[in-house]
Amino acid sequence: MPIDVCQLPMVGGHPVLDLVNTLERGGTAPHDFLSDSSALLRWSVQVGLISDAEADQVCRAWRDEPAAAQAGLDAARDIREGLYLVMLAAITDADDGTASDPIAAGAALVGLHQRWSGAAARGRFVLDSSQVRLVYGTVPAMLVPDRIAEAALDVMLTADLTRVRRCPVLEGGCGWLFLDRSRNGSRRWCRMADCGNVVKARRLTERRRAARPANS
Ligand SMILES: [Zn+2]
Repeated sequence: MPIDVCQLPMVGGHPVLDLVNTLERGGTAPHDFLSDSSALLRWSVQVGLISDAEADQVCRAWRDEPAAAQAGLDAARDIREGLYLVMLAAITDADDGTASDPIAAGAALVGLHQRWSGAAARGRFVLDSSQVRLVYGTVPAMLVPDRIAEAALDVMLTADLTRVRRCPVLEGGCGWLFLDRSRNGSRRWCRMADCGNVVKARRLTERRRAARPANS
């Protein structure tokens, strides 16, 4: 039985990279950890995109209008897919032949801009003591995708996309995306404790096997 989306390790270094990692793309049957709108809601609280109080509002709005819940989930998945394509295009050293596709990435940027502008249109300017802020998520039914759109904009405008990495699939890694925040930019694995060590252990076994005499 697959684990709950909230049990997934957060390795992306940014909520929207963790969002991208909620869809397992490898193999013949992709698995979507955002299985329904309630999984999306739990995940959004877990990564801090919305507060518990906001989750209550969303929950009520989605319960009253199931179509809105589905629309929220569809929007979140759509942003996730768009980000995946854009991030993939930013990765220049993917090892598994997942060729970055500039046309797909360009189309994804158009879609992401539409999602963000819808979110911004539902937002509101708020005067804080020292500045005016754009507050996203004033419509409960769209609060979750709007906060995701806000976070997506943040990663695209502020992150150093040359630091986006993909846990190396051909070497036995899991293919998850993450932002390499190491000082020298040498992080290879999503988590050394999992993917890195598993691969190292397997290599050691292979080396030992290869070193054994052929007739044993
Ligand atoms: Zn990994």
